[in-house]
Amino acid sequence: MLDVFVIGGGINGTSVARDAVGRGYSVALAEMNDLASGTSSAATKLIHGGLRYLEHYEFRLVHEALAEREVLWASAPHIIWPLRFVLPHHKGLRPAMVLRAGLALYDHMGGRRLLPPTKTLDLTRDEAGKPLKPGYKLAFEYSDCWVNDARFVVLNARDAADKGATIHVRTKVVSAKREDGGWTIELDGEAGRQTVRARMLINASGPWVDEVINQTMGKNAAHNVRLVQGSHIVTKKLYDHDRCYFFQNSDGRIFFAIPYEGEFTLIGTTDRDYRGDPKDVAITPEETDYLLKAANEYFAQGVSRDDIVWSYSGVRPLFDDGASAAQEATRDYVLKLEGNAADGAVVNVFGGKLTTSRRLAESVLEKIEEVLGRKGPAWTKGGTLPGGDFGPKSFDAEVRRLGLDYPGLPAPLLSRLMRLYGTKARAVLGAAKSTADLGDHFGTDLYGAEVDYLVANEWARTAQDILWRRTKLGLTVGPEDVARLEGYLADHVALRPSPA
Ligand code: FAD
Repeated sequence: MLDVFVIGGGINGTSVARDAVGRGYSVALAEMNDLASGTSSAATKLIHGGLRYLEHYEFRLVHEALAEREVLWASAPHIIWPLRFVLPHHKGLRPAMVLRAGLALYDHMGGRRLLPPTKTLDLTRDEAGKPLKPGYKLAFEYSDCWVNDARFVVLNARDAADKGATIHVRTKVVSAKREDGGWTIELDGEAGRQTVRARMLINASGPWVDEVINQTMGKNAAHNVRLVQGSHIVTKKLYDHDRCYFFQNSDGRIFFAIPYEGEFTLIGTTDRDYRGDPKDVAITPEETDYLLKAANEYFAQGVSRDDIVWSYSGVRPLFDDGASAAQEATRDYVLKLEGNAADGAVVNVFGGKLTTSRRLAESVLEKIEEVLGRKGPAWTKGGTLPGGDFGPKSFDAEVRRLGLDYPGLPAPLLSRLMRLYGTKARAVLGAAKSTADLGDHFGTDLYGAEVDYLVANEWARTAQDILWRRTKLGLTVGPEDVARLEGYLADHVALRPSPA
């Protein structure tokens, strides 16, 4: 019998699986679709304290989240990196002195060591003022971090598997019943129907958490989550510098404009209650209008529907704390332990953020220890994710080293691979001397070697997995490339065993 079975391959499930297996528990995880296909690839992609949550007095969350920024950056400096945020001041906001004081608190609350502190900008002279409409004179510039959210999930799963966890993808947990001092769990997926036994269940199914409690575990009418939809649009690049804008409207609603994938700007997000099936969530015309209108209030260059190249939408599975407005519902996580070692125990996970996922996993591990007894010590603070073993601040040096190892390969390709795979980029490239050695070409700089790596090591099965989650090359490849990639995968995926 397994010690721990995790339902859900989003950031919370994979983080718990990784932490638990690293402490010596036997672990398996099932994800009904692709890893990170739920909320965890639909985020604004910030590792942040959440300046706005200070206004809602969520001090515990902000403190924990701020402290995580440098911990996570050090654990995965290929997919997480510092970002400077420009917050333009205007009459509709709190007085500049008050904002400056809030940012001073933000700077000091979370034990910042490497990230640069807040500074004041004169927008009439600073480059950050140029893309904005005239009239913005003063801004504050502060630090948070960026994360490639979908890869954050996959690397947690990869690390868990490297340490001995079994990861089932495209495998749904269809029922979980308490029997003979543990759980009997029915799986339906790639390997057909299977039954597994586990002493403890972790329900990390995000927006589906109530559905899993009610239907999979056969409980009655649990209602714990409030689904809050958030959507983003991606436009052609709106400005040239590498900083992000944090805009706060006079009505208190905020949104970000972030440099994205080299050629684009990411604009989001919205906040609206969602009552449909989480799998059907899609940006609404009203949300698109709202984001365009919001961008047009600040940027001098007009932004229209024609500039939108992609959009995505997800639902935050927030713990239902009874807040009246969607923006006010708590972003903190809540864990509920039920049952005991004799009958089988479950931890239901509600809420959480990418930023606090490692700490959430540590809290889940406290509950696992309570039930199953302690095995190893906490270890993820200071651990690295696959490919991230080169330390913060050394990314450029690593790209140069890769360039020395592969002088015949184009610099943009090497840089892109370092951003996605870190030191594992060498495992993607093998002994290639030029792009001719990288196999079939699927448009832009996607070659067979990378596709094979993703299939063999990262549970990629479909073109969608590769183009929109393991990479974001979907933004640049053409329809014929997609068709060719689909054909290649149809021939290759069936021939390959799943990653261990
Ligand atoms: P999910 O990622 O949804 O994972 C749950 C998984 O469970 C799904 O993949 C689903 O397929 C699977 N599943 C469900 N039922 C079953 C079953 N029966 N069997 C097998 N598998 C099952 N956080 C930040 O830190 N920074 C941000 O900038 C940020 N921005 C956000 C912006 C938006 C618009 C949204 C929506 C969220 C944002 N978040 C952000 C929050 C963060 O994305 C989420 O808290 C986090 O991704 C939730 O992860 P999860 O693992 O709980 O859920």
